[in-house]
Amino acid sequence: MRIGNVKGRPWLITGQGAGIDIGKSSGGRFGTDLPGLYENWLEFTIWAKNVVAESTPFNLEDLEAPSPAPRQIFAIGLNYFDHAAEAGLEVPSEPSVFTKFVSSFAGADIEVALPAGTVDWEVELAVIIGRHTRNVSAADAWSYIAGLTVGQDLSERGLQLTGNPPQYSLGKSFAQFSPTGPFLVTPDELANPGDLELGCRVNGELVQKARTSQMVFAVDVLIEKLSKVATLYPGDVIFTGTPAGVGIVRTPARYLAPGDELVSYIEGIGEIRQTFVAESFEGSLP
Ligand code: ZN
Repeated sequence: MRIGNVKGRPWLITGQGAGIDIGKSSGGRFGTDLPGLYENWLEFTIWAKNVVAESTPFNLEDLEAPSPAPRQIFAIGLNYFDHAAEAGLEVPSEPSVFTKFVSSFAGADIEVALPAGTVDWEVELAVIIGRHTRNVSAADAWSYIAGLTVGQDLSERGLQLTGNPPQYSLGKSFAQFSPTGPFLVTPDELANPGDLELGCRVNGELVQKARTSQMVFAVDVLIEKLSKVATLYPGDVIFTGTPAGVGIVRTPARYLAPGDELVSYIEGIGEIRQTFVAESFEGSLP
């Protein structure tokens, strides 16, 4: 099952650019917004299996973040062996956790105003939680996941690395710095949801390519470790870390520039696209 956020309303996606408005088709039973859908996720999935409704078209440009208002966002640093190695840092013995503030969330196909000269790309698998999750073992963790989507953990490296300890959360939370999409895909849609190819291209050049099975802490292990400390709520998002190939470690370092196009993909889920423009100080941000 694929769920899209079409102008703030949850849609069950049935084909290319077509789907069913869930709020309308359920007579309002599952609400008309995404947070309400995740709150009733299990009941919704049972209803969705038997829904009979005619598909209608929507515009792909209208897709917003599949979970646009999570109560909590967890992001994991150095969660791929090859990325830790390229950064010259040790693989963490426990997950390195920071957040991306929700004001940075955005949809699948957007324009991003670049705040400075050192903005970098990080393609990531983003996990959306579907149930209250507390002290859940890795063996049970996948049944607490609503679905997976493509994420970009855009990072302003100058601010991110300022100070000791550095400013991870703030440096990754400028406006539009957390695009996700295009859809939430439920794990049962994927032959092996723990082993998906992911990557991204800058102006058509492949700069990152890996498999999610190469994570240091796999998705199920992350949920076990996080839920021992914090209760995870329906709709919460976990950015699970990025593989090798970011711009900061290149010689010379390479950053995003006005006019660049960044396309990120995950096998079986889809792709998201950002184009970059110079920051305007005249209030043009949404
Ligand atoms: Zn990241």
